[in-house]
Amino acid sequence: MSIGEKKIISACLYGQICRFDGKNKKLPNLSDYKKGCCLIPVCPEILGGLPVPRPRARINSGTGKDVLDGKARIVDENGKDVTDYYIDGAKKTLQIAIDNNVKKALFKSKSPSCGFGRVHNAEGLVEGNGVTAELLIRNGIKVVII
Ligand code: SF4
Repeated sequence: MSIGEKKIISACLYGQICRFDGKNKKLPNLSDYKKGCCLIPVCPEILGGLPVPRPRARINSGTGKDVLDGKARIVDENGKDVTDYYIDGAKKTLQIAIDNNVKKALFKSKSPSCGFGRVHNAEGLVEGNGVTAELLIRNGIKVVII
């Protein structure tokens, strides 16, 4: 029996306790997204080595694109530079996608990792993508915010 198309989903939307605040953002209609596909929950920030809970972090200027291009950093509310954790988590998420032949990711909005279309940076909510979303897109994976 086929397990259906494999898709990555932000682990917090799947119900895992992985957010900075020690909570999740479980989708009330998660079962709808499970129909006909195999969801792979992934939290890039945990994969990158950050703990739960953790200080809130923001891209200091620009978006995930700028972080990947070495033009911006990610700094937490204590002033610690956590850029390398975010980039490492993005790379590990991409590897999971490649290993599982994933073509689509269902991601949480506005996150400096998973956000797509709009993302929080130090100036507020700006147009652009989080670090992981940007890396997946650059590698041909479709990102959808749910
Ligand atoms: Fe959720 Fe993504 Fe943030 Fe992890 S990095 S808590 S999966 S939005």
